[in-house]
Amino acid sequence: MTRLCVFCGAKDGRNPRHREAAEALGRALARRGIGLVYGGSSTGLMGALADATLKAGGHVIGIMPEGLVGEQAHTGLSELIITPDMASRKARMGVLADAFLALPGGFGTLDELFEMLTWSQLGFQAKPVGLLNSDGFWDGLLVFLARARADGLIGEASMALLHCDDAVEGILDRLLPRG
Ligand code: AMP
Repeated sequence: MTRLCVFCGAKDGRNPRHREAAEALGRALARRGIGLVYGGSSTGLMGALADATLKAGGHVIGIMPEGLVGEQAHTGLSELIITPDMASRKARMGVLADAFLALPGGFGTLDELFEMLTWSQLGFQAKPVGLLNSDGFWDGLLVFLARARADGLIGEASMALLHCDDAVEGILDRLLPRG
């Protein structure tokens, strides 16, 4: 099964468009038969994404470090994988997924996004990485990355590793083109 690993906020935040985007993504994954891999929480945008995928009949694998399992772990997933720590969790996500996508989120989402991009940049993996630009959430980051590119700190080939689209279907077509 083709799988997409999604990083997104453990909080709901204040912008309802991000929750709508997470739910639309979940439905699209189920419709396309793409499995979801994510951080395993029942909270925030993460929980909304998992719930929407499951409700539409999709397959969801959550991966959580032992320290976070407890009240926040989603109890209705197709599979919950528990890892000893954050590093092995990310490694497991890297192995299981065919592509990575960041939805709106905070530090955790940014950390995961940039680690996957760095692995790709260094050639440790050759899996596409994307941003779902819900309500222009990533616009500021794209401006910053263009500055880093202009200053010669991010190369053209590295920049090309990161895909961005404001629509669910558009980003899925870029990351996991239909065969
Ligand atoms: P943040 O963007 O800071 O809300 O962090 C969300 C991202 O970090 C998710 O993609 C998760 O993989 C991970 N993460 C952060 N907090 C949690 C949590 N309470 N439970 C599970 N994963 C979390």
